[in-house]
Amino acid sequence: MRLKIYLLRMSEVFDIAILGAGVTGLRLTNRLLSQAGGDLRVALIGPVDARQQRISFWHEVSQGHDYQAAIDGRWSAWDFRHRGCMMTQQARRCEYVSIDALVLKQQLEMQLASSQCYRLAAMVQQVSQSSLNFNIASEAGTVVARQVIDTRTPYIPDNCLKQQFLGVEVELTSPHGLKNPILMDFDITMVAADAVNFIYVLPIGEQRLFVEATIFSYDVAAKTDFYRAIDDWLDQHFAESILRNDQHEAEFATIPMGQVRPIEPSLVGCGVGGGATRASTGYAFKGAERQIQQLLLQAVSERRLQHVEAYSRRARLMDAIFLEVTKTDIQVLPELFGAMASRLNGDDFADFLSDSGGWGPLIRTILAAPKWPFIKAAGRLLVPRR
Ligand SMILES: Cc1cc2nc3c(=O)[nH]c(=O)nc-3n(C[C@H](O)[C@H](O)[C@H](O)COP(=O)(O)OP(=O)(O)OC[C@H]3O[C@@H](n4cnc5c(N)ncnc54)[C@H](O)[C@@H]3O)c2cc1C
Repeated sequence: MRLKIYLLRMSEVFDIAILGAGVTGLRLTNRLLSQAGGDLRVALIGPVDARQQRISFWHEVSQGHDYQAAIDGRWSAWDFRHRGCMMTQQARRCEYVSIDALVLKQQLEMQLASSQCYRLAAMVQQVSQSSLNFNIASEAGTVVARQVIDTRTPYIPDNCLKQQFLGVEVELTSPHGLKNPILMDFDITMVAADAVNFIYVLPIGEQRLFVEATIFSYDVAAKTDFYRAIDDWLDQHFAESILRNDQHEAEFATIPMGQVRPIEPSLVGCGVGGGATRASTGYAFKGAERQIQQLLLQAVSERRLQHVEAYSRRARLMDAIFLEVTKTDIQVLPELFGAMASRLNGDDFADFLSDSGGWGPLIRTILAAPKWPFIKAAGRLLVPRR
């Protein structure tokens, strides 16, 4: 009976096939199904994504959302440390939210299991296009669909700036006393040369911390270098509270901070594969949400799907200048983030990084930032050398 239903659905022509079942593919599919009711026949093709992942981002408190059950921390203030100085930004409108993305993915898979969606948990091998339809060949057979949205992990070119990080959860024997997340602590043992190095810390329980060593770099570093920076940071700040020796690796990843190369550039992309990663931060969740929102509108109005830019023109211009600075002056970036930390309030900082709030936060960020490296980089972009 199950095989019969399976074979029946393999011969069906779907309205939309979504490739890749990471956070973006799952959220897009669930929202398509709930917005279009039974009107759209949707297939989701990709292996079940069981990676541990913690995803954090800024959220405007007055706006609703649908990931409440996966949230495991939210804060209206956050800290930075640079050159021995601890700085706190306080927000009134925005909060910094951290979700357990593995829990989110599991919840979304469960919702799909009880929906009309055709869920094929297999790797896509090839996509070809005939005059009317797309044929999606996977490890488990071929699916035919009129339209496709591709959320598969893209290639990260060698010349792309990368954010590489390794995070561990640490149990302490006494309360750590941290009220806020530390978004960037630059006073640390270096993980890699020619890179921006910092430690990121989330207080996830009274005696529990999530500690992540991060680099922005064109090259990748070895895991041992990340562990050394984390161990040194813990020794420096919590040597008194003997650590239970149960640090376990919670995540290790490399994400793009520049242009990626999609597996199949001619397809409409979404999420990291669709360019949703913000070049100046590596944050991608909010950009993917914007793309999902626009693609839903296109799908429900039965339009031919088209690529959606995740960020505004002004944000893309700022990011192009940021990336240009990283090519020649990467060591100026701690100065930039230090200046932003000390001179911006939490809402402006959140707005600037999330590409929300219009020109105001952007202008205030430009006024706060060190000027010369950015003016020189903008000049190089305007008048490229031959
Ligand atoms: C460990 C980690 C932490 C992150 N933390 C943050 C954060 O704090 N804040 C933030 O904003 N962003 C963060 N990001 C970036 C981004 O928000 C997340 O990656 C988010 O999960 C977006 O996912 P995605 O679905 O667009 O891409 P991905 O997570 O890359 O998912 C792509 C999916 O495609 C699948 N796939 C690949 N090849 C194929 C194929 N041939 N056929 C079918 N399926 C395929 C993969 O299995 C995967 O499930 C993080 C990323 C990682 C990896």
